[in-house]
Amino acid sequence: MARDLRCACGAMHWTIAPTAPGTRLRCYCSDCQAYAAALGAETMMDDKGGTELFQTLPSAVTITKGAEHLANLRLTPKGLLRWYAGCCKTPIANTLNGPRLPFVGMVVPANSDGYGPLVACVMTKSAKGEVRQYGFARTGVNILARGLGARLRGHSSGAPFFAAGQPVRTPVILSEGSTP
Ligand SMILES: [Zn+2]
Ligand SMILES: [Zn+2]
Repeated sequence: MARDLRCACGAMHWTIAPTAPGTRLRCYCSDCQAYAAALGAETMMDDKGGTELFQTLPSAVTITKGAEHLANLRLTPKGLLRWYAGCCKTPIANTLNGPRLPFVGMVVPANSDGYGPLVACVMTKSAKGEVRQYGFARTGVNILARGLGARLRGHSSGAPFFAAGQPVRTPVILSEGSTP
């Protein structure tokens, strides 16, 4: 199935529900680039430093194998939680710092089938080269900013990334000198 994903070494598998709604976009921000670089996963990006994301609900995500390898990092003490497979440092997803807004940006392979059309390219000022920016209004970042997130509150525990209101793993914080 097109929405089955796995880490580079194969120890961890996860899947996104085939019917889950979502938005496929490419993000060129320097933080996404730093996340890939910290994991040695630069090859997941396109040649301009873009990371392809499928923004959806955490409840659409199931870890089907190797959940014990789930790990996360933050670039700074206040940054997004950036999840990865600890076994081989494969990027998995970005979430907010808590489960109150059920929102996840799943890292997906560029140009893969199953996630719908690419509706946005954002933060292109940080791209390594010329990339046309479009579609920002359709991305979750903007949807949350406009308050739709409030309507979603209370409908998710944030699993599999959160339990009892807390991240299921303690993040490594890169700005404090820790490494994944
Ligand atoms: Zn792995
Ligand atoms: Zn980004």
